[in-house]
Amino acid sequence: MIIIMKPNASQEAVQKVTHMIESRGLQAHLSKGSQVTIVGVVGDKTKLADSNIEISEGVDKVVAVTESYKLVNKKFHPEDSVVLVGNTHIGPGIMTVMAGPCAVESREQLMETAYAVKKAGASFLRGGAYKPRTSPYSFQGLEEEGLKYMKEAREATGLHIICEVTSAHAIEAASKYVDMLQIGARNMQNFELLKEAGKTGIPVLLKRGLCATIDEWLNAAEYIISEGNPNIVLCERGIRTYETSTRNTLDISAVPVIRQKSHLPVIVDPSHATGVRAYVEPLAKAAIAAGADGLMIEVHPCPKQALSDGPQSLTFGDFEALMKNLKPYCDLAGRSC
Ligand code: PEP
Ligand code: MN
Repeated sequence: MIIIMKPNASQEAVQKVTHMIESRGLQAHLSKGSQVTIVGVVGDKTKLADSNIEISEGVDKVVAVTESYKLVNKKFHPEDSVVLVGNTHIGPGIMTVMAGPCAVESREQLMETAYAVKKAGASFLRGGAYKPRTSPYSFQGLEEEGLKYMKEAREATGLHIICEVTSAHAIEAASKYVDMLQIGARNMQNFELLKEAGKTGIPVLLKRGLCATIDEWLNAAEYIISEGNPNIVLCERGIRTYETSTRNTLDISAVPVIRQKSHLPVIVDPSHATGVRAYVEPLAKAAIAAGADGLMIEVHPCPKQALSDGPQSLTFGDFEALMKNLKPYCDLAGRSC
């Protein structure tokens, strides 16, 4: 449930309500908006049954929150959250572009890509060092060596770096190098991994699972935030449907749905959603129009030779053109990019 305080409620009244909640063994989460303060309650609300909280000083009304996710719920925090990564904000007014290879393959490949995506206007370098591949015989990633190259690329270009983590061990290693952890589609419901990422406090990009509903996805985010890490960005990357023309089906409607249900920023990955280079630009434009806070795009110096996801990867020239072509769409959406 949430307790909505009156616009003129005093600090003491808010404290009294918070104290009443906590003294009964529940958690109180404050959200101070420009107009009103909301006290979100997590725990067994029957413990408040005889509290008369709805007639406490300064309380306007008490509203039940029926969804199982609470802290990521917009009802708990009506204003859109901004996630800070280094000195970069992800959220309203900005179109954050994360670009780079599917996998870090070599130092040269990564450095070359880092300079190219920086020049074209990306603010994050993506690159997988731990690759969750369908086949155990496919390239699995350079692991810590790859993380070292990512760090070197950050130092050389000033780009923020994001890497996928697939295990607690990978989180421990990546925490020493990266600005943002990525939890991929295949691990969206790996609850132990979500909890570990929650404990780090490092910003997390949580991709939507291949077959996950939006409610399951938001509950996955709740695992991270309930461990004390509110720095979460969601990423729609397509879901599995009966359609075979594209690798997945981009659920563009997830963007406005998330906007309505949650305060967390949401970005779109048209590369994994389609699996086809030619469809990346139209869907990137659609994502901006739908209200996305950013994009994740795969870029490779020579897609034909990529060790993974070549067919969906853009060349440097493609990416530069894409960024130019997206500019008017960002302007129209009121976002800087
Ligand atoms: C990736 O970003 O490289 C990746 C594997 O994505 P997803 O988890 O969305 O498949
Ligand atoms: Mn990929």
